[in-house]
Amino acid sequence: QKPYDFLIVGAGFFGSICARELTNQGYSCLVVEKRDHIGGNCYTEKRDDIHLHVYGAHIFHTSNEKVWTWINQYAKFNHYTNRPIANYKGELFALPFNMWTFNQLWNVNTPAEAQQIIAEQGKDIQGEPQNLEEQAIKLVGKDIYEKLIKGYTAKQWMKDPKELPKEIIKRLPVRFTFDTNYFNDRYQGIPEGGYTQIFEKLLEGIEVRLGVDYLADKSTFNAMANKVIYTGPIDSYFNYQHGELEYKTTRFDHVKHDYPNHQGVAVMNYTEEEIPYTRIIEHKHFEFNETPSTWISYEYPEPYKADVTEPYYPVNDQVNNDLFQKYRSLANQEEQVFFGGRLGEYKYYDMHQIIDRALTMVNTFTKKSMNDSTTTG
Ligand code: FAD
Repeated sequence: QKPYDFLIVGAGFFGSICARELTNQGYSCLVVEKRDHIGGNCYTEKRDDIHLHVYGAHIFHTSNEKVWTWINQYAKFNHYTNRPIANYKGELFALPFNMWTFNQLWNVNTPAEAQQIIAEQGKDIQGEPQNLEEQAIKLVGKDIYEKLIKGYTAKQWMKDPKELPKEIIKRLPVRFTFDTNYFNDRYQGIPEGGYTQIFEKLLEGIEVRLGVDYLADKSTFNAMANKVIYTGPIDSYFNYQHGELEYKTTRFDHVKHDYPNHQGVAVMNYTEEEIPYTRIIEHKHFEFNETPSTWISYEYPEPYKADVTEPYYPVNDQVNNDLFQKYRSLANQEEQVFFGGRLGEYKYYDMHQIIDRALTMVNTFTKKSMNDSTTTG
């Protein structure tokens, strides 16, 4: 008899939701987490009465009623609406591209005038665009490409946009209205008191061991539970036997200033290539906080190195998706181990999508678990 029904690897949204739901259904769970805190990449830390998003800005948005009802059991959301600003060589523009942006760029006031300029500037791209640069110019014209896309994309991908596949920006959010709300979702906001308290509530009464790398002692941990839910990188689980999956990663430099307001907005994108960071986040504006000091975070894209840098964004191109399928086949052969979450499924999921997936998938784990609860790992 093993001491736990489920070992859950990772205390992000996927792992924590599984732990809560399974515990509620009467299963015993042990959660192990490599980092020294719970919350995964949504973790926020209180610094000088400001909730700092340690692994990058996390804005909750969804149109999924089920998810919105579910999350509201754990947090009260404020009315934050994401309206980022682009800074190109000191000139400020509204994002996503909308009538304010076109007015700032070209001094036009009507959608027809803006559409005409975009069409005019995109007409040089004859036939099928061959790369990201051509695709972008075709979609939004030269000015927007040069000022707001080119440098930012080059920094983000660490490549010249001419060398990037056009598929990355098949669609660009362009609005011929004066709506500066970044998201189209029905619900949006930041949890009052930060994200970490959501995870504290989710994991209440559940055994969590922090600072524990499951992969460093896999067999010991496997011997402790009938089933494993693994939310770490799928390639590292299989010891990179088919090669490494690619991720985009970012370094976050958090800086405190002893004055109340640095940039007057939560998110400012720096779109020129010469400035090495892509964005500055000023955390207090997520929560309408009036503290005397402020915390800001610079975001620097960095090359990814497995087991050294953090795997943030899966790169879901053909090569990586094919490689993932090989790992998926291996995963299907693991009868006692379930793979879930952004890293386990190698898919870029927003929070609301991960919550939906965890709430759905956890029931398949229990069904399978009850069927073969007598088998050992
Ligand atoms: P994670 O949060 O990554 O949790 C996985 C956990 O597993 C981690 O804590 C990790 O330490 C742990 N782990 C991994 N390997 C091991 C191991 N071997 N042993 C023990 N523990 C292990 N979503 C939005 O909706 N809005 C946003 O604005 C937004 N912004 C984002 C910004 C950034 C920079 C990033 C990276 C993501 C953003 N997201 C956003 C997405 C959001 O972070 C994810 O949807 C969510 O965190 C996924 O939860 P998860 O549990 O799958 O993964």
